[in-house]
Amino acid sequence: MSLLSVIIPCYNEQENVPFFYEEFLKNEAFFRERGMDFELIYVNDGSRDATVAEIKKLHEKDSRVRLISFSRNFGKEAAMYAGLEKSKGDYVVIMDVDLQDPPSLLPEMFAGIDEGYDCVATRRVSRKGEPPIRSFFARRFYRLMKHISKTEIMDGARDYRLMTRQVVDAIVSMREYNRFTKGIFGWVGFETKWIEYENIERAKGETKWNFWKLLIYSIDGITAFSTMPLSVAAFMGVFFCLVALLLIVFIVVRTLIFGDPVSGWPSLVCIISMISGVQLFCIGIVGQYLAKTYMEVKNRPIYLVKEEI
Ligand code: UDP
Ligand code: MG
Repeated sequence: MSLLSVIIPCYNEQENVPFFYEEFLKNEAFFRERGMDFELIYVNDGSRDATVAEIKKLHEKDSRVRLISFSRNFGKEAAMYAGLEKSKGDYVVIMDVDLQDPPSLLPEMFAGIDEGYDCVATRRVSRKGEPPIRSFFARRFYRLMKHISKTEIMDGARDYRLMTRQVVDAIVSMREYNRFTKGIFGWVGFETKWIEYENIERAKGETKWNFWKLLIYSIDGITAFSTMPLSVAAFMGVFFCLVALLLIVFIVVRTLIFGDPVSGWPSLVCIISMISGVQLFCIGIVGQYLAKTYMEVKNRPIYLVKEEI
C-alpha cells in the first residue's frame, strides 16, 4: 500500500483546521480505490490561537493526523520545509489549510502522476477576489523574474503540488536558509505537469500577507534566484564613468575655446545628488546580497520544533 503525505502549514487557523479535515476526507473513496493510505501533517507555525488544540482533537479521533509544532512563527517556507523533511509518504502534497487549494483536484493530479510525471503543480489563472494593485505588482514580479532569472518561475503558481519521493528528496537536500520555494521547485527540475484553476477565496479567517510583506518576499525571491541586480549595479557604474569622461572632454574643450565663466553651480549640485543616489542604491543592492550571504553563513536551523505527535 502506498502512502500519501499531506503537508498543511497553519498559522492562526483554528476555524480552518477541522474544516479542512472534513473537506479532505471527501476524497477517501478515491484513495481507497487506489489502495492508498494517507497521513495529514499539520505544521503549526507558532500560532497564537487554538490551532494546536484543534489539531490535537483531530489526532485523538484519527491517528492519521500528525502535528509538528514550531517554537515560534518561522513562516510558511519553513513550515513547508519541516513537513517535507518529516514526511514519510511515497507521494507528498502541500496544501493550504484555508481551502484555497481545493482537495477535489487531487484525483486529477494523481492522473498526472499515472501519466508518468514526477510532479503535478497547480496555478491560478485568475486572481479574482484579490486587491487589484496586488495583482498588478504580482504580474510585474513574475514578468521581471522571467527576464532576470534562469530558473523557471510560473506566474500564478501555487505551492499546491503533488510530488514523488524523488522530487521531495531533491527539495529537502536544498538546505538554504532564505527559502523561496516557488524558485526551488523550478530549480530542481523534473517533469512537471501544470493544472490550471480559477482563484478561490479563503474559507475562514484572514490572509497573513499584506502588501509590504509581499514586497519583501519578492525581493527575497529576486536575490535568491538571480544575481542580475549586481550586474545592473556594475553596468550603471560603467555608464556613469563614460558620461563623466565625455563631460570632462566637453568642459576642457569649452574652457580652452571660450574661457571659464565659473558658472554651473546648480547643475553641479544636481549631478552630485544624482550620482550619490545611484551609488547608495548600488551599495544597497550589494548589501542585500551580503545580508543574505551572512544569514546563510550563520547556518541557523530553518525551524525549531517544540512538540511533535
Ligand atoms: N502560513 C504559515 N505561516 C505564516 C503565514 C501563513 O504557515 O507565517 C500558512 C497559512 O496558515 C495558510 C498558508 O500558509 O495555510 C497560506 O497563507 P495565506 O492563506 O494567509 O496566504 P494567501 O493564500 O493569502 O497567499
Ligand atoms: Mg490563502
